[in-house]
Amino acid sequence: MMQTAPGQRVRTRFAPSPTGYLHVGGLRTALYNYLYAKKMNGDFIVRIEDTDQARKVEGADKSLLRTLELTGIVPDESFIHGGNFGPYVQSERLGIYQQYCQQLLDRKSAYCCFSTAEELEENRKLQMKQGLQPKYNRKWLPEDMGGTMPESETRKKMKEGAPYVVRMKVPDYISIMFDDIVRGPVEFDSATVDDQVLMKSDGFPTYHFASVIDDHLMEISHVIRGEEWLSSMPKHLLLYEFFGWEPPRAAHLPLLLNPDRSKLSKRQGDVAVEDFIKKGYSPEAIINFVALLGWNEGEGCEREVYSLEELEETFSLERIGKAGAVFNVEKLGWLEKQYIKSRPQEKIISAIKPLLQDELEKRGTDMDVDRISSDEYLGRVIDLMRERVNFEHEIVTFSSYFFFDPDAYDEKAVQKRWAADTNTLLREFIALLEKTDDFSADNLEAVLKDFVAPRGKKPAFLIHPLRILTSGVGFGPSLYHMLEVFGKETVLRRLKKGIETVNAPKQNEEGLNTRGIVIRD
Ligand code: GLU
Repeated sequence: MMQTAPGQRVRTRFAPSPTGYLHVGGLRTALYNYLYAKKMNGDFIVRIEDTDQARKVEGADKSLLRTLELTGIVPDESFIHGGNFGPYVQSERLGIYQQYCQQLLDRKSAYCCFSTAEELEENRKLQMKQGLQPKYNRKWLPEDMGGTMPESETRKKMKEGAPYVVRMKVPDYISIMFDDIVRGPVEFDSATVDDQVLMKSDGFPTYHFASVIDDHLMEISHVIRGEEWLSSMPKHLLLYEFFGWEPPRAAHLPLLLNPDRSKLSKRQGDVAVEDFIKKGYSPEAIINFVALLGWNEGEGCEREVYSLEELEETFSLERIGKAGAVFNVEKLGWLEKQYIKSRPQEKIISAIKPLLQDELEKRGTDMDVDRISSDEYLGRVIDLMRERVNFEHEIVTFSSYFFFDPDAYDEKAVQKRWAADTNTLLREFIALLEKTDDFSADNLEAVLKDFVAPRGKKPAFLIHPLRILTSGVGFGPSLYHMLEVFGKETVLRRLKKGIETVNAPKQNEEGLNTRGIVIRD
């Protein structure tokens, strides 16, 4: 029943409800649908499921698509991209659903139900009290469909204009089976399936009805979606059966879990794709991370880094696991670092340039603006920093000393690195640097070593203070390379200003500073 007809074109869909942000779980569903379509040279469709008008959020449809595209997932068909199977928004297809609903009423596979909300609630409470699974009690199931309601009653209500819904008639005593690509054979007893509402009293279809009609009309070959929809399968399969349509194949994706294995949070800040992008995670890392939430290339395969193109080649529905997938943000951070290490320099340059421009406008700088905004300069900064940052933007924000003179010096680092004679030696060293023209890292290293050795000091005696005075902080890339990138003018300006600002902490006679830390250089 569930086989794709041989030669049928693969068409998959992502069918979000426009109720807010794009959840990482939604991105995973979209990604797997996209990857499978690409791998099979098929089509990937985005369909907006806005039949629940009360939950609809204005503009959410466009922003969902924008976020998807930011991550590199571009649909072949959607309300923005067009296509031959539109409209791609369910609220624009109401006439279609009404027409198909009429077919089911005519065939006596569906019936009108006039039960009020209060009646339904009462019935639900009663069944719960009796320890039964709440289900519609079929009060309005017509006599000629095996129920007790005379046709005259239904006609009377219709005439009165009473509000009603249309329900599907679930056959009694049958078993509904299908073969899920991820979960294998699944079986449901029709006794557990409710007479699902297909059309609501406001003239809108329910999700179940609209999605079956649309999957059929849009020639969807594979429905790939979250596990929470597995229990809807019997209703959907019955609808296909009523219409005499071939159902698409189904793959239900494993749940996403918090590291403590509870169900993944819905708090926007933790799971909204756009928030991850805002924090600085790159589309490549996000896609890579999400791809691994429930899929792997093969048993025992250690590989973890994949580009979208590589995923398009390697992805397969068969390698999706059944077990819940743990959402571990640390892994995303690790992937981000892998990407920063290998990202082409030009790409990082174009990503950080606008940020640098903004910062320069806001803060102004004593450095030569043309020089520090040049590709050559940024390239050298990137070479020094790409292994040290968590996010690309930190190349500007975290190591801002490449662009701005420090306006403060890390107090603790100063305390730790200054000895009584540090400033004296620094002054002499600054004078030596004034006379040095070759500011290459190699030469600076040689100059510094030659300077400290006859004075009975190790290079680190000056390395740390020089770093603090030129960058404001006590850590960073190799000092010599950093000074080379800064250039002579900047280095001297910063050292001269710094030495006037930083007061050496008081030392006792043994060279211990007042906090008792040995200056061991
Ligand atoms: N509109 C449903 C959702 O919001 C789609 C479920 C499905 O893929 O069938 O997740």
